[in-house]
Amino acid sequence: MQQNKKSLLNCSHTDPNKILPIQYAWARTHYKNGVANNWTPEEVPMQQDVEQWKKPGFITDDERRMIMWNLGFFSTAESLTANNIVLAVYKHITNPECRQYLLRQAFEEAIHTDMFIYCCDSLGLDPDEVYTMYQTVESIKAKDEFVVDMTKSILDPNFAITDTESIQKLLNDLVGYYVIMEGIFFYAGFAMMLHLLRNQKMVGIGEQFQYTLRDESTHLAFGADLIGTIIAENPEAWTDSFKATITEKIKKAVDLEHAYAQDCLPRGILGLNAELIRQYLEYTADRRLQRIGLNTVYNTNNPFPWMSEIMDLRKEKNFFETRVTEYQTAGQLDWD
Ligand code: MN
Ligand code: FE
Repeated sequence: MQQNKKSLLNCSHTDPNKILPIQYAWARTHYKNGVANNWTPEEVPMQQDVEQWKKPGFITDDERRMIMWNLGFFSTAESLTANNIVLAVYKHITNPECRQYLLRQAFEEAIHTDMFIYCCDSLGLDPDEVYTMYQTVESIKAKDEFVVDMTKSILDPNFAITDTESIQKLLNDLVGYYVIMEGIFFYAGFAMMLHLLRNQKMVGIGEQFQYTLRDESTHLAFGADLIGTIIAENPEAWTDSFKATITEKIKKAVDLEHAYAQDCLPRGILGLNAELIRQYLEYTADRRLQRIGLNTVYNTNNPFPWMSEIMDLRKEKNFFETRVTEYQTAGQLDWD
């Protein structure tokens, strides 16, 4: 660790209450991008979804299964993510502009939690079913346990950043939540739910997933910049064996999400199936690997180029009413 130089993890040289002058401009940029996408679930009408959900045969059993599995996964994954920010990351990341972003992100996770309350209430779903799926559905449980395990060591009250090993533990946590949970697991779920929206089914939930996707793309851009900065300032922690461990975990995450997709879509719906999701996962995992300076593994083409278009749309524009000429590329969000 660089003990004598001002750096992100060297709290003794950083006053957490002195945000100006800003040292890490990227953290401030992500904060402003988050604010620019401000939204609340109640802005989105659910009447059409309620009608479709209740109309016999309109939403097929296979579509219902996919919707329920994703509501079950996301409803609890949002609070797992929020808990990690507030209880683990915030304590150890003392840089004030990063903390400002973490507070914004925590607020956005509260909005996402609210979104699932709103969806359950609107559709009249049984909360005891939805909110226990992370324990009762094996493919969801396996994903959550994998991420929670990656973050256990920094939740230990005695954990402190004192040496190279502790920096690796922190990086392991950040990869677990920002890259794997938000950057890989969430994206397959987004693709499934937004595929329904493209078929004019469950459009209110779909619109809320669009807003959430834009929030999450900023979360993981921040996470990747945080990881990249920690590595740049502490290169001794980014050893070949640690890099190999991280790559293996990302590959394992792709397999877990693929198993989940097979469970969500045992027969496929509306031209979407688990193998297309697998391709998207491989494409996405490669992008995440590259973003944190690791080699790609799969070199698979993107089967869903429409996903990147959604991220680039202005908040005010409805996806279906927007022409290609109105797309706006947010320079900082180099994710698709
Ligand atoms: Mn979220
Ligand atoms: Fe998030």
